[in-house]
Amino acid sequence: MHRIVIVGGGAGGIGTATRLGRKLGRKGSAHVTLVDRVESHVWKPLLHEVATGALDTGIDAVSYRGHAAANGYHFQQGRLAGLDRANRRVVLAPIYDGATELLPARDLEYDYLVIAIGSVANDFGIPGVKRHCLFLDDTEQAMGIRKILLNRFLRYASHEQRQERIKVAIVGAGATGTEMAAEMHHAVDQLRGYGYKIDTSLLDVTLIEADERILPKVGRDKISDSVARELERIGVQVLTNTRVVEVTDRNITFQGGYVVAADIVIWSAGIRGPDVLRELGGLETNRINQLVVRPTAQTTRDDRVFAIGDCCACPQDDGSWVPPRGQAARQLGHVAADNIMSMMRGEAPDNVYVYKDLGSLVNLSRFHTVGNLFSFLGGGVMVEGRIARFTYLSLYRRHLIELYGPVRGVLMILLKSLHRVIRPHLKLH
Ligand SMILES: Cc1cc2nc3c(=O)[nH]c(=O)nc-3n(C[C@H](O)[C@H](O)[C@H](O)COP(=O)(O)OP(=O)(O)OC[C@H]3O[C@@H](n4cnc5c(N)ncnc54)[C@H](O)[C@@H]3O)c2cc1C
Repeated sequence: MHRIVIVGGGAGGIGTATRLGRKLGRKGSAHVTLVDRVESHVWKPLLHEVATGALDTGIDAVSYRGHAAANGYHFQQGRLAGLDRANRRVVLAPIYDGATELLPARDLEYDYLVIAIGSVANDFGIPGVKRHCLFLDDTEQAMGIRKILLNRFLRYASHEQRQERIKVAIVGAGATGTEMAAEMHHAVDQLRGYGYKIDTSLLDVTLIEADERILPKVGRDKISDSVARELERIGVQVLTNTRVVEVTDRNITFQGGYVVAADIVIWSAGIRGPDVLRELGGLETNRINQLVVRPTAQTTRDDRVFAIGDCCACPQDDGSWVPPRGQAARQLGHVAADNIMSMMRGEAPDNVYVYKDLGSLVNLSRFHTVGNLFSFLGGGVMVEGRIARFTYLSLYRRHLIELYGPVRGVLMILLKSLHRVIRPHLKLH
């Protein structure tokens, strides 16, 4: 039986495993295995909500094992540590609980391999970033940020405690940094309802961007302007044309020598491929560690090894590269799955990925949603307010429907809406 291994169950990988599991695994025509270093899936575009407590992973995370059992694939927990292409084996690192080894290093044999391990924040080698900044690369880091924030606010839970302003700097004003800034203000507002004697004037959030405008990758100035206005209205200070050159435990230094104080620095200034991809099985990588693939999602040096999502660099006919987006990860996953099925039938893998920019939406928590739809049509259509919010929410709903199928997917969406009514609006423990 053909063995298909997918490493990384994020926005792209879990959809690929689901598609292959339902089409091949359930019928017994292939043994499909998904590997992830953690036990459950949280959709990465929602990580800023995990960081502020607006999203409860206890409710929203999808257990890989449960999902695998229901969708015809298998799950193995493990971290990709190496690749032996000659013998078609993926090497997984040992799993530890503290100092105790739970599982030794293991090999997993494959006939087709899909690498979908996402990206990590790029610190661009700037001094102090790795050591002093917080990152939003995974659920664990998002929960770490939430704990730090809650601990700070705990001090303010009583009237008697002297209240000092908390200075938070967010470096990088792409969608992640921008949404995080708004979400923080919203979270502080909500905490007041749960006995914390605080208000948003105690939170000093500064959003820092090296480009001349925020959201530099979103095609339109009008969107950046609209978002910048809204952020300033809710009290976020926005600094553009500002390049960070050093971070210490208390300060950030900008190019030109200007220094500002910061209690917490969140770094969201760009991405790169995880270190394990460097020299992984001799596959080709680019300067930011992404695996270079062809538009069929096959890596350039091995037809049987595919890469999708943030961890790959996929070229387009116009000379551009597919951007690191949830949408692209999902669609590239479909291309990889279809091409694997073609190869299994002895046909050529002729499904070629053409990135169609359906648009970008920025959701400033409950304050404002704005974006551009159908960007591939001559610049697209700018949307704001309810339509933008509805479309933004429908991206996650679509992901749920892909994971659970139409009936259970809709039930999950209703259940999540119900939770919002009956449970606290913030995860407080
Ligand atoms: C806060 C935030 C907001 C965002 N908002 C949007 C948005 O609105 N729209 C949009 O299109 N995109 C958005 N993005 C980007 C989007 O989340 C990514 O482009 C997308 O998740 C990439 O999917 P992926 O499958 O490549 O990787 P991921 O979704 O990151 O999944 C990678 C998976 O691999 C696993 N993994 C990592 N390393 C290993 C290893 N060594 N071994 C085994 N498993 C491993 C991880 O646990 C994870 O499950 C946002 C990102 C962030 C952080």
